[in-house]
Amino acid sequence: MLSPNNPVAMRARTVDSQRRRRDTEAMSQMSGIDPTVPPSGDGCVECLAGQDAGWWLNLRRCAQCGHIGCCDSSPSQHASKHARAEGHPIIASFEPGESWFWSFDLDDAVEGPDLAPPLHHPEDQAKPGPEGKVPADWAEQLHQ
Ligand SMILES: [Zn+2]
Ligand SMILES: [Zn+2]
Repeated sequence: MLSPNNPVAMRARTVDSQRRRRDTEAMSQMSGIDPTVPPSGDGCVECLAGQDAGWWLNLRRCAQCGHIGCCDSSPSQHASKHARAEGHPIIASFEPGESWFWSFDLDDAVEGPDLAPPLHHPEDQAKPGPEGKVPADWAEQLHQ
């Protein structure tokens, strides 16, 4: 006969001091945040690769894999497309002066740990960006 696994009983045997640390690690994995992964670069991965509109208003960082993508106001919305396609539910702002996390699963703001630096794009980076790729009528192309 097979004896079923019993994760609850196994967990109950864990020493308290270890349990706290393990729960913290498990939680950051489960919640889609890996604070050890640096951002993919200074700009939206897909826009810089020339995909879709190719320019952004604000930048977002995938808290799980570091993918930098453009925000939902940007014409191509690569950050939320990445989240859906990859199943990475949490983004952080990549804008100077902003520090927040958003969960697409919860459709709400969430708390997060300090991520690997840099925490935002360079202060002197063009916005909208990237420089040279932004059309004259960019404001009319934003999503509301
Ligand atoms: Zn983009
Ligand atoms: Zn990701």
